[in-house]
Amino acid sequence: LDSSYDDDNIFAKIIRGDVPCVKLYETDAVLGFMDVFPQSEGHCLVIHKSATATNLFDIEQDALAELTAAVQIIAEGVKAGLKPDGVRIAQFNGAAAGQTVFHLHFHIIPVYENTTLAA
Ligand code: 5GP
Repeated sequence: LDSSYDDDNIFAKIIRGDVPCVKLYETDAVLGFMDVFPQSEGHCLVIHKSATATNLFDIEQDALAELTAAVQIIAEGVKAGLKPDGVRIAQFNGAAAGQTVFHLHFHIIPVYENTTLAA
């Protein structure tokens, strides 16, 4: 659980606008955007834009509250728009747990009756 933040991670590039993304929701604090390799229709990601936190253990509570509030708002939109049967919220900390991008993020994964989820 390395907490050293690398400014060259792909989500830092997305925040800077150096790499494009399909934005769903944005405030001064947070950004919600589509996952490029979706596990289901509507799979999206939510990140804090200024908190340079590698994972959940690095972020201050005020920033985390902004982030989780955005997760709820975006998930509400996904639920209303796509009418999934369920919604999985996932968040991985450390490579051993399956984290591949080391800027803290929450997955919002709509689940449908025919969805096969990755672990
Ligand atoms: P992790 O396993 O770290 O929780 O998930 C990282 C997620 O970021 C994966 O679901 C992956 O598909 C997504 N991802 C990786 N690179 C990019 C990218 O360049 N753009 C977007 N929108 N998503 C990405």
